[in-house]
Amino acid sequence: MDIQKTMANFEKHGFAVSYFATKEAAAAYLNEQIDGVTVAAGGSMTIAAMGLQESLSAHNTFLSHANPPQGMTADDVRRAAMTTDVYLTSANGATTSGELVNIDGAGNRVGSTYFGHKKVYFIVGIQKFEDTLEKAIFRARNIASPKNAQRLHRKTPCALKADRCYDCNSPERICNGLSIHYRKLYSADTEVVIIGEELGY
Ligand code: SF4
Repeated sequence: MDIQKTMANFEKHGFAVSYFATKEAAAAYLNEQIDGVTVAAGGSMTIAAMGLQESLSAHNTFLSHANPPQGMTADDVRRAAMTTDVYLTSANGATTSGELVNIDGAGNRVGSTYFGHKKVYFIVGIQKFEDTLEKAIFRARNIASPKNAQRLHRKTPCALKADRCYDCNSPERICNGLSIHYRKLYSADTEVVIIGEELGY
């Protein structure tokens, strides 16, 4: 993958873009950029591997529905997390031509990437980039989602072997909405943070 060309393509699509060789360098950068604000994040093995909730919580208000503040339920936190200053997510697939793909079960994660925040960061490991949008969607559906279903112990056909999508009708299906960012949306500054190592699914 040509990093410089990929970065230029995201810039042409209106995104800010940054590149770091390691997750540690990217985490240090994000901790410099995000300070003294409210932050929320979509479920992400990339963000977990970077320890961002732990480090950002030390100097920001980080809302996590897994750990609701006193007086709030998990659903209260999910709603409040839709309008924090900053939102962090990864992508299930991306293209070297400058597009981002995500799949969601509940919708809060993809919804947050479209509207509600002043700044949105997509943090994307190098293995998630494909050369066409079709391949990025295929990746999201057949690589990322089965692995996530397996991780979440869902009763879905893909969770057994995490080998491919079976386009199930399970009540526990995690693939109910697909988002594509062709260009940056009007509402929020959006930055793509590319990391030069494999991270997440
Ligand atoms: S649609 Fe069903 S089978 Fe396909 S990846 Fe999603 S949960 Fe798994």
